Amino acid sequence: MITFNQVTKQFGDGTIALDNVSFHIEPGELVVITGPSGSGKTTLMKMLIHDYTPSQGSILYKGESLEGMIDKQVPFHRRKIGVVFQDYRLLPELNVWENIALPLSILGKSQGEIESRVTDLLNLVGLADRALVFPKQLSGGEAQRVSIARALAMGPSVIFADEPTGNLDKKASLSIMKLLEQINSLGTTVLIATHDVTLLDHLKNERQLVLEKGKLTKDSNPKDVPEAGAEVTEEFEEVEETEKVEEVKADDDLAAEFQEVKPAESEEPTEKPTEKPSEKKLSGGLFAGLKSSLSSLSVPKFGKKEEVHVEVESLDEETPEELEETKKPAKKSSKKKKTKEKKNEE
Ligand code: ADP
Ligand code: MG
Repeated sequence: MITFNQVTKQFGDGTIALDNVSFHIEPGELVVITGPSGSGKTTLMKMLIHDYTPSQGSILYKGESLEGMIDKQVPFHRRKIGVVFQDYRLLPELNVWENIALPLSILGKSQGEIESRVTDLLNLVGLADRALVFPKQLSGGEAQRVSIARALAMGPSVIFADEPTGNLDKKASLSIMKLLEQINSLGTTVLIATHDVTLLDHLKNERQLVLEKGKLTKDSNPKDVPEAGAEVTEEFEEVEETEKVEEVKADDDLAAEFQEVKPAESEEPTEKPTEKPSEKKLSGGLFAGLKSSLSSLSVPKFGKKEEVHVEVESLDEETPEELEETKKPAKKSSKKKKTKEKKNEE
């Protein structure tokens, strides 16, 4: 499903973040990517979502080289890989329900589909009773659960959790790890990049890829690395007529508004609610647009237990670099332009 074939990533300043790395991951695996800070874990994630391109070697997703993608296909590829970050990256002006609904709303999913999907996801992550709460009212563990639910909203085939417990205490860390294991048992391939010893100890029987200074020094359960094109199981999706390029642009605009929510120091909520969630107003700019796109959605009543489905598609979430890029004056730059700029940088 995921193949790195002799991948090297050297940045413009000469740093070699990944050095001749090869591995193959099969669908449904849970793989721990570990190694000290600076060993290349985040770079590996960014290469998988085609944020960075290899200096040498190739990366295949379901047998297709990522380098073969045209710019328009990149957002579609990214929806298949839900990324969970250490610092949650929830939109502070949207409540829990809206944060999870957002990727679905942007893609124009029907209200019924969104309601049923968000309800399932809230039940899955155990936050059905926190739907109307805002990110700053959540504990770190809860915020990470929301972030996981949002990453699952589009039904990705893969979840890449990059240091998901970096800001959490031991109890919350284990609970997040169990949630990721549960998601894996429901069929999603899960990659967890971590150097958290609590997590590593709990996951010691899972496959481990160990990175040291960009080199893969251990793969506890190696799989044969297939040749490029040897196992094409899925061609990159054509951009469908119904999901127009306009929507890709909307993703870019949205991404520009993604803001970091400061991680909670402890499991206690960082701030007590000062107003009822329902009174909270979205501020101007794109939030006004989001508000209007979300206002057509009524937040359903929670509490009814439903079977959990985890087979929808992933949030095309932007990386901090892309966010910076989109915050610059040419804010409405298209994905195509950004990709070109990125290539020039490299
Ligand atoms: P990890 O996630 O394991 O902590 P990273 O993948 O973030 O490691 O970083 C690997 C190495 O690449 C580090 O030396 C880091 O400083 C360097 N690095 C990461 N991103 C960039 C970049 N955009 N430009 C230059 N060097 C980078
Ligand atoms: Mg990292």
